[in-house]
This record gives sequence, C-alpha cells and structure tokens, in this order.
Amino acid sequence: MPRKKNAPGKPKRRAPERLRRGQTKPKVCVICTQHDGKVDYKDLSLLRRFMSDRAKIRGARVTGNCPQCQRKVAMAIKSAREMALLPYLGK
Ligand SMILES: [Zn+2]
Repeated sequence: MPRKKNAPGKPKRRAPERLRRGQTKPKVCVICTQHDGKVDYKDLSLLRRFMSDRAKIRGARVTGNCPQCQRKVAMAIKSAREMALLPYLGK
C-alpha cells in the first residue's frame, strides 16, 4: 500500500511557520525594554537572572541581551562580586 501524504482527518502537529527547524523565538533585551538600559550592581535579583546556578555569567546568546547591555550586566556582576554581594563560585 503506497504511503499517502497528508492523510485526511489527521492534522499534523507542527511548530508555527516562523519557528520551524533551528529557529527560535526572537529574544528581547530585558535591560533595554524594562530597565531603560540601566544596570545597577545592587540590583541582585536582576543580576541573578543573568547567572547560572554555579554563579557563572550567562552568555548573551542565552539571555538575549544586546551587546551593550551584556557588557553592562557583566560589569555589574563583577562589581557585585567584588562587594561580596554575589558569589564567585556557586555550589
Ligand atoms: Zn539592551
């Protein structure tokens, strides 16, 4: 029996057109959209969002930050570490 393409009555579950194969949701920069491009080294709850659970700084590819904000975030995290607000190493 030959295989039928698109047998009727069985809708295929597919990702929406713009999200197919290797494509992901477009990321938005949280700093630009919600914090006016400003990063404070004392804002620990914000900074922790850009760190892994081992206290490493997450890359811009992961966080979706724009390059300018990624630099600010990295500097802020390093400042916070120096002030002992954030750990150098986790776990
Ligand atoms: Zn940004």
